[in-house]
Amino acid sequence: PLSLSDTVEAHRICVCVRKRPLNSKEVTKNDIDVVSIPGNGTLLLHEPKQKVDLTKYLDNQVFHYDYSFDESSTNDLVYRFTAKPLVQTIFDGGMATCFAYGQTGSGKTHTMGGDFSGKSQNSAKGIYAMAAQDVFALLNQRRYSSLDLCPYVTFFEIYNSKVFDLLNKKAKLRVLEDEKQQVQVVGLQEMYVSCAEDVIKMIEMGSACRTSGQTSANANSSRSHAVLQVILRRRNQVHGKFSLVDLAGNERGIDVRSSDRQTLVETAEINRSLLALKECIRSLGMDSHHIPFRMSKLTQVLRDSFIGDNSRTCMIAMVSPGMSSCDSTVNTLRYADRYC
Ligand code: ADP
Ligand code: MG
Repeated sequence: PLSLSDTVEAHRICVCVRKRPLNSKEVTKNDIDVVSIPGNGTLLLHEPKQKVDLTKYLDNQVFHYDYSFDESSTNDLVYRFTAKPLVQTIFDGGMATCFAYGQTGSGKTHTMGGDFSGKSQNSAKGIYAMAAQDVFALLNQRRYSSLDLCPYVTFFEIYNSKVFDLLNKKAKLRVLEDEKQQVQVVGLQEMYVSCAEDVIKMIEMGSACRTSGQTSANANSSRSHAVLQVILRRRNQVHGKFSLVDLAGNERGIDVRSSDRQTLVETAEINRSLLALKECIRSLGMDSHHIPFRMSKLTQVLRDSFIGDNSRTCMIAMVSPGMSSCDSTVNTLRYADRYC
């Protein structure tokens, strides 16, 4: 059974892995499950009964994380061990950040709760909504009511190094850095919210904006990072900020010869920003004072999250269980394992 260890509570970074069940498409294609979660915090890539040689992917089949969640785990359980412990941070005047990482189709949006297509489960049960509910539960406590904290929400997308406001018809926004290295997204809508339901409405609005049919750029939400922020302001100053990030898919095996130029540019940009993120999180883990946040638009915009003594981060790495996803899965497992 899982229990919240106080070591993880005290850490600035928590890294977890979540495996989703095989879906019906994979079952139809006779794909086989090669991922198992033998114990808390471990993940094993195992040889299927059919003769498939995994050694072409791996030198090591066991990976280690703070927590590992198998296919039976619910969003509620994942939330309790990942984002929930970070809610307190923003009340203490700190920055909290939760990333969903993984290939397209691995369950990032399902976990965050940004899927409003109606096909998926109730999005009110994702991490976005559960975090919003806990923020308001604390705001209503007497010990915080005297602080006069005002909650706001922003929701934006980063695609090919450009920022688009999901709460304002995808307006394209500029990012500026002043002489004090403060990073500002110019004109980003910051919406006042008075209850968790208000936040859910914003998520719905922004998610619809994110996936609505565009003709040209940005047609595919899996090629962009989506950032939802809950900001607590006190006398107009930022007191704390919780950023929940549904990252662009990190898939492997994009065929360079058969892909069009736009796909190649997108892919290079995604790889660059995920690498930058990894570098920033690694510096955070080493308590380094030099955080290379300028390496990408994503890390630049999230600069606040990587500085300050009171910043905490959690990364949830999502994996698909199928043999057919092995390349991307190994890539994800390595990306996340490096921090442990
Ligand atoms: P991503 O955002 O990483 O591209 P999605 O969250 O859209 O992936 O998930 C792809 C599909 O798999 C969706 O239909 C989603 O509902 C389903 N799915 C993902 N994770 C789970 C899970 N843990 N349990 C059940 N279904 C899941
Ligand atoms: Mg998604």
